[in-house]
Amino acid sequence: MARIPLIAGNWKMNLNHLEAIACVQKLAFALPEKYYDKVEVAVLPPFTDIRSVQTVIDGDKLRMVHGAQDLSPHDAGAYTGDVSGAMLAKLGCRYVVVGHSERREYHHEDDALVNAKVRAAIRHGITPILCVGEGLEIRESGRHVEHTTGQLRAALVKVTAEQTGSLVVAYEPVWAIGTGRVASAADAQEVCSALRATVATLHGDAAAAGVRILYGGSVKAGNVGEIVGEADVDGALVGGASLNADEFAQLCAIA
Ligand code: PEP
Repeated sequence: MARIPLIAGNWKMNLNHLEAIACVQKLAFALPEKYYDKVEVAVLPPFTDIRSVQTVIDGDKLRMVHGAQDLSPHDAGAYTGDVSGAMLAKLGCRYVVVGHSERREYHHEDDALVNAKVRAAIRHGITPILCVGEGLEIRESGRHVEHTTGQLRAALVKVTAEQTGSLVVAYEPVWAIGTGRVASAADAQEVCSALRATVATLHGDAAAAGVRILYGGSVKAGNVGEIVGEADVDGALVGGASLNADEFAQLCAIA
């Protein structure tokens, strides 16, 4: 089964709603239409920009899609400050990032919460971009494959084979996020192939062939080609470089 590569730009806590509109418009201008047949392009703004981004994408009939960076595991109720999957679905979100290392670290999100968020996204028809990845200490001890496949298994509890086959997993080594230190293409392939093999063990070959596995961590126009050239890497989750519309467009075109 051919998997269409996905390049998703995680804006993190950057850009106000006017800057967000400008960024999407610049990106649309910089990335010619023909590329959208070959690569799916997603932008993941902060909550406060989603409505503005949706309006530009829908109003100008742009072929990129948008999503969010987090969601509540709950569907509604007394959860001050949370944003539900239903609310994101209403804003046209196609994707939502779940389990990003910054949420795991700064908000103490554990595997059980990540699993609840994956299931909440699926309940509302939003595709989770499930992030897994090891810190430097684990990488140096050689336990990175065991660690990341363990995170994946925990996130997939009570997720069916069919649901797993259509989700997106992002391998993001924590030591490579925002540090400028990128994993080699071989490092990315090693973990991404182990993640796919884990999906095969849990849910069979069809799910493993369908799931898209991205690499994330200091991806730029200069290194994306080599990384997405690996057999089990189906695109990239891009942080810093997604804030520069010209570089992000170039990166999407290369992918
Ligand atoms: C990220 O935050 O998901 C990320 C990969 O960031 P950066 O590209 O800046 O390393």
